[in-house]
Amino acid sequence: MSIENTKNRIYYTKPSITELEIRYATDAATYGWGERCYEYIARFEQLFRQHLGVRHAIATSSGTGALHMGMAALDIGPGDEVILADINWIASAAPIIHLGAKPVLVDVLPDTWCLDPSAVEAAITPRTKAILAVHLYGNLCDMDVLAAIAQRHGLHLIEDAAEAIGSIWHGQRAGSMGVFGAFSFHGTKTITTGEGGIFVTNDDALYERVLTLSNHGRARGETRQFWPERVGYKYKMSNVQAAIGCGQMERIDELIAGKRRVFEHYQNALRQLPLRMNPEPANTTNGYWMPTIVADVGASFDREALLASFKAHNIDGRVFFWPLSSLPMFEPHPQHTTSHALSAHAINLPSYHDITNEEIGRVVACIRRILEANA
Ligand SMILES: *Cc1c(COP(=O)(O)O)cnc(C)c1O
Repeated sequence: MSIENTKNRIYYTKPSITELEIRYATDAATYGWGERCYEYIARFEQLFRQHLGVRHAIATSSGTGALHMGMAALDIGPGDEVILADINWIASAAPIIHLGAKPVLVDVLPDTWCLDPSAVEAAITPRTKAILAVHLYGNLCDMDVLAAIAQRHGLHLIEDAAEAIGSIWHGQRAGSMGVFGAFSFHGTKTITTGEGGIFVTNDDALYERVLTLSNHGRARGETRQFWPERVGYKYKMSNVQAAIGCGQMERIDELIAGKRRVFEHYQNALRQLPLRMNPEPANTTNGYWMPTIVADVGASFDREALLASFKAHNIDGRVFFWPLSSLPMFEPHPQHTTSHALSAHAINLPSYHDITNEEIGRVVACIRRILEANA
């Protein structure tokens, strides 16, 4: 057994929880009942609205739930198509399918790993209802071009910003630009409530529709008890989760800065190697949720060897998402060459907020051995 094997395990991610979150969660568990059972939820929504600069926010039990309700409120349903990138986590596509609509997968750009706007435009049909812009690993979609396409064709532009807390496009935070935005607070994300999510929008009418949907179809002005006006959903965040979220929101600048510190340390340490990392084009800020390396085309990168090396050195490896079209429930799209190439040549790096420079050094040493051995 190598010496490094006995060293502490490096997780690919874990939350940053301090006395603050523990104090708020304890308070919610102790006193947050009865009349006070929504206090932390209301405060969490307010803190998130302020951070993002949006008019409305509804905390949910998951990011998937926020997407599902938002799309339902836009009347996306059977016969409709929603365009999204092929290379994505399935959570972005599942709500489209649950609503009876069709996810239309298109290829991504090689530098941003996000929607290729020309592929989006080519995929538009009379059935297209929306474009779902997923900001992958903190990288931003080209929101200006996508907004222009959406406007030209009368489509909704939706943002899945679950991975883009801290990312800013030309002065506007990810998630605040689309008809609505969805975020996730799963334990792996930049801020967490354990499980959880949030729906955000600047559209007053859409907000009211999602609010009704989120409460089993009960409108807030309804005076009759237990009177749903339509079949809705039950995707609510609990007060105890929101209490943890309030602590995280008070620390959000520090948590985003932590992610950026980790990325920049990797970037400096890996500078000489034949690889690219998450881009940060002019006029944008990348929240760097997940520092990711993509081996250069010429470099002979062996993903399995790197994963084995990580394992031998007690480091969690995490593969880049598979193209959704390579999964059994979707039609194959071998012509999406960028998505397929990315998946095979990339890997996410451990990036929890408190990872030490020494631990980053252990990860870098594994990458260096693989890429230099094959050079
Ligand atoms: C995590 C994630 C989701 C899903 O969020 P959950 O809270 O797990 O439902 C959706 N989209 C993207 C891009 C994600 O990374």
